[in-house]
Amino acid sequence: MKIAVFDAKDYDVRSFTECGEKYGIDFKFYETKLNEDTVNLACGYDGVCVFVNDTVNPAVIDKLYAAGIRVIALRCAGYNNVALEHCFKKIHVFHVPAYSPYAVAEHTMALLLTSVRRIHKAYNRTKEFNFSLSGLTGFDLHGKTVGVIGTGKIGCIFIDICKGFGMNVIAYDKFPKKDADINYVPLDELLSSSDVISLHCPLTEDTFHIIDDGAVAKLKKGVIVLNTSRGALIDSEALLEGIKKRIIGAACLDVYEEEADVFFQDFSGHIVEDDILARLISMPNVIVTSHQAFLTEEALNNIAQTTAQNLTDFFNGKSNDNELCYRCGNVDTCRKKRKARCF
Ligand code: NAD
Repeated sequence: MKIAVFDAKDYDVRSFTECGEKYGIDFKFYETKLNEDTVNLACGYDGVCVFVNDTVNPAVIDKLYAAGIRVIALRCAGYNNVALEHCFKKIHVFHVPAYSPYAVAEHTMALLLTSVRRIHKAYNRTKEFNFSLSGLTGFDLHGKTVGVIGTGKIGCIFIDICKGFGMNVIAYDKFPKKDADINYVPLDELLSSSDVISLHCPLTEDTFHIIDDGAVAKLKKGVIVLNTSRGALIDSEALLEGIKKRIIGAACLDVYEEEADVFFQDFSGHIVEDDILARLISMPNVIVTSHQAFLTEEALNNIAQTTAQNLTDFFNGKSNDNELCYRCGNVDTCRKKRKARCF
């Protein structure tokens, strides 16, 4: 089994090579992202493995199909970059639904604590033997209200962490969990009454720019906005305006709308072309990490292992719960409901 791995980083090479030996899969690694220009690299392989910023649009899917590719293994949970409907009846798509929700939830709290206790500033100061406390005043999280949008695996773990800090948790989810000990409120109420807002929903048509100009106008003054989910949940221009108008007190972003051309690469010797990102990063109350919330040893090993298992099941003709379908809505013929392969 020969699989072309796109957008591969050194940590992917290590975890996937180890896992490939165990599962008898020959992973070949390409640093380049998958897109219309690079798709021909997939010729001669049995499948492709892609990540969050690879482009899997209809044109790429058609070329993969023509090259004989019948399986795409996403090594991530989110799949907003894949035109799933276009894959239907052509290429089977698998993802890794959970590799370490703890990694992402813990990173979210790390960002929040860094922001409210000014750890990023203190770190730089003491490195230069500047032990002044001026400007480092934070606030207690205890007793503050955190609004969590999306109460799935990551959202629920983040809620537990916040409860451990003595925070008052409210939440919004389009599909609220029944019988869960979660105080669900309408989205507008969450926006207007939260001291901290954390996004943990997927990027869909519904959630695209869920934080836009209109939402920013409803926010409580001084709110901290956390996004470790997907960049396009936030309209970056609206965020910037909200910060400039002093409505948003701080923002912590592990993801960014236009991250595909910037994140995961070293631009330290270059001029960043994205003015909004550059302006955001220049602000003292904005912290950006480059989509690293998932990056723990545990998560990397789980990602490689689940991806290898997904591929093995596919080539052995077995059904697998991690296969994605675009929900054709055909209840009578849905094969997934009968625990079979999507098509
Ligand atoms: P999940 O599927 O377990 O939970 C998502 C939740 O969002 C569900 O409860 C769902 O009902 C809810 N939701 C769906 N549509 C909604 C809407 N319109 N409004 C409000 N809520 C809605 O997913 P998860 O594992 O908790 O992951 C959440 C997101 O985190 C993923 O979609 C992915 O984009 C992101 N993620 C980021 C990283 C990272 O490294 N930064 C890593 C993994 C996942």
